[in-house]
Amino acid sequence: MGILPHAHPVWGEGYLFRIGGGLATRPHFSIPLPRFIAPERVVPVLLGIATLFRERSELREKRERARLKFLFLEHGWTIDSFATRLEEILGEPLPLLEEIPPFPMARREERDHLGVHPQTDGRFYAGLAVPGGTLSPRLIGHVANLAEEFGRGEIRLTSQQNIILPGLALSSLDAFEKSLSGSGLTLGSGFSSRVVSCTGKTFCRLALAETKELGERLAHTLENAFPTLESPPYLHLSGCPNDCGQMRLADIGLSGVQGKNGDNGAEDGFDLLVGGSGPEGIAISRRTGVRLLKDQVAPFVTRLLAFYRENCKDNESFRDFVDRTGTEWVSLLDRGTADELRLFSEGLAVRS
Ligand code: SF4
Repeated sequence: MGILPHAHPVWGEGYLFRIGGGLATRPHFSIPLPRFIAPERVVPVLLGIATLFRERSELREKRERARLKFLFLEHGWTIDSFATRLEEILGEPLPLLEEIPPFPMARREERDHLGVHPQTDGRFYAGLAVPGGTLSPRLIGHVANLAEEFGRGEIRLTSQQNIILPGLALSSLDAFEKSLSGSGLTLGSGFSSRVVSCTGKTFCRLALAETKELGERLAHTLENAFPTLESPPYLHLSGCPNDCGQMRLADIGLSGVQGKNGDNGAEDGFDLLVGGSGPEGIAISRRTGVRLLKDQVAPFVTRLLAFYRENCKDNESFRDFVDRTGTEWVSLLDRGTADELRLFSEGLAVRS
């Protein structure tokens, strides 16, 4: 369930609900519920949706199918039949929205919140990149001290696994920036701010691969290899297909598998996906057919980005590049000959 604010010209301030979104092996974008939800109805509607979810026996048959999205994907439900059943449960109709109002989403880069930016109250907030999305006890202490010394004692976490410290005074910004040096936290938007990993094998019993350390190493390798890349692509790692790391919404996604390393037996591996994006221009990443052992990930992604940088046009983003060129070149990088790759690049140069 997603809840978005909405100001209706007649009914005033309220909310729009979106239903049935999810990633994992069957990604599905949430569908807007064509009803206006007044603030006082939010909790009853949430309870109504939970009741609807609980009563559906078709969602109880398999644990991995116990998601609202499967009503739409596999059981023939539409958003109208969903709204009708919800209203029956609530015992009253909800105001019908004839049209779903557009809801402009901020560009992904804008949602990173990195750097220092003004607030509406004359103070500033700082978005800090956390390498690997992991805070050691030492770093947690440092962040807490920064929040108390320079901010208002508040720390916010972002979906990109970075942090925001609000409430900084203009007069303290220089001292604040100096206190970051050597801490491992930065205000910049390099690769380390754009790598997201689920907990992987470190903490998750479902994991097929370790993700946190690999993500950090990957960011480090790419930062050294491409220090001037203007807008680094987003790289997301999930330790299994459940996709808590949201690899299906990343420019480059890595999905943990149990790989095989010849006579050395089982080893952590990853399926490579490209071309995902969210939330503006949201798109699900595509499987490339390339499977990598963990030690092959950083070298291969480095080759991948080198190919992108050599062949992109007019600073197009990685996502636009994939949209224009498809994914054939990714498997050519993996299994093709140098000649095949050269011919492919020449073909790209003349393709509009
Ligand atoms: S994606 Fe898989 S491995 Fe990662 S946290 Fe979720 S369930 Fe665990």
